[in-house]
Amino acid sequence: MNNRNQRVEILDTLKSVLQGYINLGIIEVEHGAHSSNKTLLHELKNEILQCKKCPLYKGKKNYVFGEGAADASLMFVGEAPGYYEDIAGKPFVGKAGKLLTKIIEVMGLKREDVYIGNILKCRPPENRNPQEDEIETCFPYLDRQIEIIKPKVICALGKFAAQTLVKTNISISNLRGELFYYKGIKVVPTFHPSYLLRNPKGKRKTWEDMKLILKIIGRKVKNNG
Ligand code: SF4
Repeated sequence: MNNRNQRVEILDTLKSVLQGYINLGIIEVEHGAHSSNKTLLHELKNEILQCKKCPLYKGKKNYVFGEGAADASLMFVGEAPGYYEDIAGKPFVGKAGKLLTKIIEVMGLKREDVYIGNILKCRPPENRNPQEDEIETCFPYLDRQIEIIKPKVICALGKFAAQTLVKTNISISNLRGELFYYKGIKVVPTFHPSYLLRNPKGKRKTWEDMKLILKIIGRKVKNNG
């Protein structure tokens, strides 16, 4: 066997050993952009876990950073963690979160396919509305999440997320149904799931908004909602 053939054989052996380790889960392989997005999000999360920029950190149990695919085409943005999110340290896990999960599934997606976050990372006391100064202080974190993930479309859930991203005071009822942009990324405002729990009639309009999102991310509508 000549030297070249020997080298090819050694490389083939190495390849199959590596593949075996990968198949057994001993080695994890991550790919390009997705891997670096994950690292950047991880670094940002660690930064937020130290944040004392506004008084909300004092009353929270957990910072709620956000979760989902680091390279998601679709990002959902709500206003702030509530009681259950604060306890779990995860976004949208209470009743409204369950409805959001259902909406995502009706779209033919899974929670892991999208990214879910909030404008504020700490729960306001008694779930009161976010204040202007709190939004202004915390928003740069969301801006960096958006910058890292670079979604094709952001679905702004409810008044505070929509008004902040669109930079307007127009009501959510008048914002939804229209397409906006944040730093060149499409923004589709829709009702917050907790509003839908109180006003189920809004679900029909929300589904119209989800159909627009599906069109933007290039997926077929499989369900009529
Ligand atoms: S709400 Fe945002 S700015 Fe305020 S303490 Fe929490 S992470 Fe920091």
